Amino acid sequence: KAKETGKGTFVIFGEALQQHFDERMIIENQLRNVIANDELSLHYQPLIDLGTGENWGFEALIRWNSPVLGFVSPLSFIKIAEDSRLIVPIGEWVLRESCGFIKGLQEQGYKNYHISVNISVVQLMMDDFTDMVLKILRDTGLSPQYLELEITESIFMESFEEISKKLEFLKHKGIGIALDDFGTGYSSLSYLTQLPITTLKIDKSFIDGIDAADNRSLASSIITMGHDMGLYVTAEGVETAEQLAFLERTKCDKIQGYFISRPIPGHEVVDWVKERVG
Ligand code: C2E
Ligand code: MG
Ligand code: MG
Ligand code: MG
Repeated sequence: KAKETGKGTFVIFGEALQQHFDERMIIENQLRNVIANDELSLHYQPLIDLGTGENWGFEALIRWNSPVLGFVSPLSFIKIAEDSRLIVPIGEWVLRESCGFIKGLQEQGYKNYHISVNISVVQLMMDDFTDMVLKILRDTGLSPQYLELEITESIFMESFEEISKKLEFLKHKGIGIALDDFGTGYSSLSYLTQLPITTLKIDKSFIDGIDAADNRSLASSIITMGHDMGLYVTAEGVETAEQLAFLERTKCDKIQGYFISRPIPGHEVVDWVKERVG
């Protein structure tokens, strides 16, 4: 630790920074055994198809209940899991669990439900990534067209060609590829057209902007642009009836947000679905 290496280092680091490193170290250490100790679970947030009004399916969102740290938000631990590469086994667990979950729902009669799963760029860099995905589909019996992978623009910083190839292969198998948090990154339009994606997922910040009349054009421009490129468009973080009405008018394909539902623990999903469908 820097504290022990002498006063000079301590001064350079400063206490706040030292605390930050300590905290990261604690989280990283606690993350090592989360799978073996059964500390992870998934919540599922509904996605509604605005064309039909029906439930398209769910996004799987990871939850960590640590006996040492309590509930830890993915916003606090995903980055640490990526830097330590622990995201590789954790991400595989998420994919297997969520594909199995949606297959289970399909077998209960909800035949056309999809699952959307967040994938880290660190996972995409693994040589066996595509094999891993296909194996999980085989093992769980889920057909590829019911799976969507959510990637972020951070892949532009890594081996773009290599990752593109893998995504192209999976897309060809029928798996959907969504570009998450769209609009917050730095991707140029020309990159976007080269990416093998099927869906643009507009970031919540643009959906928030719908409430201010002068910001609306941003959201509707993204929707129009996405459609012109032959992509589906999803809006995330929809919180109000006004936002929903605007997204219906502008022909957004799918929506997700607290206005429809918060993420739901797995064991409560069937009740939610029954209540909505009647
Ligand atoms: P994301 O993929 O963009 O997921 C959407 C986040 O927005 C979720 O936060 C969700 O709970 C929240 N959200 C949804 N609707 C609303 C709304 O109407 N209002 C507000 N204020 N928030 C809303 P969450 O679950 O805390 O996840 C945060 C981020 O952590 C995710 O952002 C994703 O980047 C990452 N993440 C979550 N699960 C996984 C995972 O299994 N693997 C990886 N690699 N990343 C994950
Ligand atoms: Mg996502
Ligand atoms: Mg998102
Ligand atoms: Mg987001």
